[in-house]
Amino acid sequence: MSLEIRGISKRYSNGVQALDNLSLSIGNNMFGLLGPNGAGKSTLMRTIATLQDPDTGQILLNGMDVVANKDAVRRQLGYLPQEFGVYPRISALDMLHHLAVMKGISKTGERKEIVDTLLRQTNLWDARKKALSTYSGGMKQRFGIAQALLANPKLIIVDEPTAGLDPAERNRFLNLLSSLARDVIVILSTHIVEDVRELCPRMAIISNGRVVLEGSPVETLEKLRGGIWSIVVKNADEFNDVSANFKVVSTKLVGGEHELRIHAESNPGDRFRAVDPDLEDVYFLTLNSQRIQ
Ligand code: ADP
Repeated sequence: MSLEIRGISKRYSNGVQALDNLSLSIGNNMFGLLGPNGAGKSTLMRTIATLQDPDTGQILLNGMDVVANKDAVRRQLGYLPQEFGVYPRISALDMLHHLAVMKGISKTGERKEIVDTLLRQTNLWDARKKALSTYSGGMKQRFGIAQALLANPKLIIVDEPTAGLDPAERNRFLNLLSSLARDVIVILSTHIVEDVRELCPRMAIISNGRVVLEGSPVETLEKLRGGIWSIVVKNADEFNDVSANFKVVSTKLVGGEHELRIHAESNPGDRFRAVDPDLEDVYFLTLNSQRIQ
């Protein structure tokens, strides 16, 4: 599968330029889309999912124009939006059967096999007879994936899936996603950098409707190796001193003390400790350099 996004722009009627000549090439496997709130991620997801048209530019799915072939794209698409509908008082089992009928899977035996497989795959088998309205956040997200998988999609889009999940639920959900991704495109849109580091062979960072970095998390991390240093500052003077003289990547409270991570090509001095770069460093550095330009 291949998804080519070529120079798409979108301006909302209130004047907000949500996408600004954005281009991306996406192949099989998981693709992480990172960016702060308001960067344009959901707009991009909805546009790929054929829910809205770009003003200009083109999207090609295996060479087919997405905007001109919405029905054909929808047949290959599994879309899990940020807020996935209302959760009725019927069970996951009944709901999936109902949705499968609506998708045209009319033979009872075939439908049962598909629904049962999905319930097991998403780890909802034991809870299949419980009302969806009683599901936890993680179970709802996994149900969202189960329903998205009904049509055997070749392109799966998930928008901010792990927000609000506890760590165990998040793990289960991410494992499920990565197990799906071998033969299909999975686009994971998130502002949680960690999700992308763990799962995605390729990623893009979006800011102000533009791609500001595209690549592999491993490669971008390698480029930063040797360039990230950490210091724990004792007071406001030291904090201000470091901030004024070095390129601060991020500031964190660790055990009640401020830890600053800085970017420096060469050793910034004895006070600093060399640390391994993480994807959050890449993310903040990329966004900070955007702001300066
Ligand atoms: P993200 O998903 O990265 O948070 P969005 O695509 O939701 O970004 O939003 C990008 C920008 O477009 C934001 O400034 C947002 O306020 C604006 N926006 C999103 N949807 C609409 C809409 N329907 N009408 C007007 N502005 C919108």
